[in-house]
Amino acid sequence: WAKAEGRNTFQFYTRELTSRALQNVLVKGDLRRAMQQEDLLLHYQNQVDLRTGAVVGVEALLRWNHPETGMVPPNDFLPVAEETELIHPLGEWVLSTACQQARQWLDAGIEFGRMAVNIAVPQIQRGDLAGLVARYLHESGLPPERLELEITEDFIIGEEDRALGVLGTLRELGVGLAIDDFGTGYSSLRYLKQLPVNKLKLDKSFVDELPDNSNDTAIARAVIALARALDLTVIAEGVETRRQREFLVAEGCDQGQGFLWARPRAVPNFVA
Ligand code: C2E
Ligand code: MG
Ligand code: MG
Ligand code: MG
Repeated sequence: WAKAEGRNTFQFYTRELTSRALQNVLVKGDLRRAMQQEDLLLHYQNQVDLRTGAVVGVEALLRWNHPETGMVPPNDFLPVAEETELIHPLGEWVLSTACQQARQWLDAGIEFGRMAVNIAVPQIQRGDLAGLVARYLHESGLPPERLELEITEDFIIGEEDRALGVLGTLRELGVGLAIDDFGTGYSSLRYLKQLPVNKLKLDKSFVDELPDNSNDTAIARAVIALARALDLTVIAEGVETRRQREFLVAEGCDQGQGFLWARPRAVPNFVA
């Protein structure tokens, strides 16, 4: 079986390598241009109170409107950006744009709750994120409590102390912190105990088969109970059906996000 394994590994490796090499060439050059030519934009998706349906937040999701291929989903270009230094200017563009948009809604009297912005692991690990966030808050005039950063559990791999320091400083600024895709990454309850986060996002993969899959119901229940016990807000991602919503409400989940309420849009429905 060693031979079979070797062959599979090899096939996997070459496929991976080809697509990566290809992607790197295509994406790197194009992405630089995209940032200059304003082909990047943000879409916004509502986060709602599960019981009332009221909007409590909005997540900014990056889109690339490629001149030839059309809209490119973030999972197709973010990994390449993360492997290069491109993630830094890209991440700053997202932060700055989201803060300005939120400030505009505030000025227009449009209630959106909090603006949630996704942060990639290298942005935390570089160490200057808190300073950048402070700058974009200042430049836009957005109050810190209106901003929430979504981080994944994997930020902890690598320079742990530096990452924890960055997150601590962000909390001191008054910015909210949510753990995105909770349960799919390098989770450790030890970090949950010492991390200055205030929200958990139950990953969509645990929501998809609710309430029929008994493993998923058990995991969803446990995560909701954990969040409540630690006094964290818990939001379910990728909620598409009323049955999912009913299960989550019954289990005491606070918030939801998903196509059941709204898809990500350039102009969210609470604006228009
Ligand atoms: P995420 O942060 O977990 O975002 C949620 C993803 O689930 C989004 O995909 C959203 O469109 C999708 N989604 C929400 N509700 C539903 C639903 O009911 N059904 C289904 N099928 N999908 C739903 P999207 O926009 O393609 O983004 C994918 C990932 O890319 C995000 O996952 C996030 O990790 C990353 N990402 C997006 N924008 C940014 C960004 O500005 N910076 C960074 N670092 N990452 C970003
Ligand atoms: Mg997110
Ligand atoms: Mg997520
Ligand atoms: Mg996700």
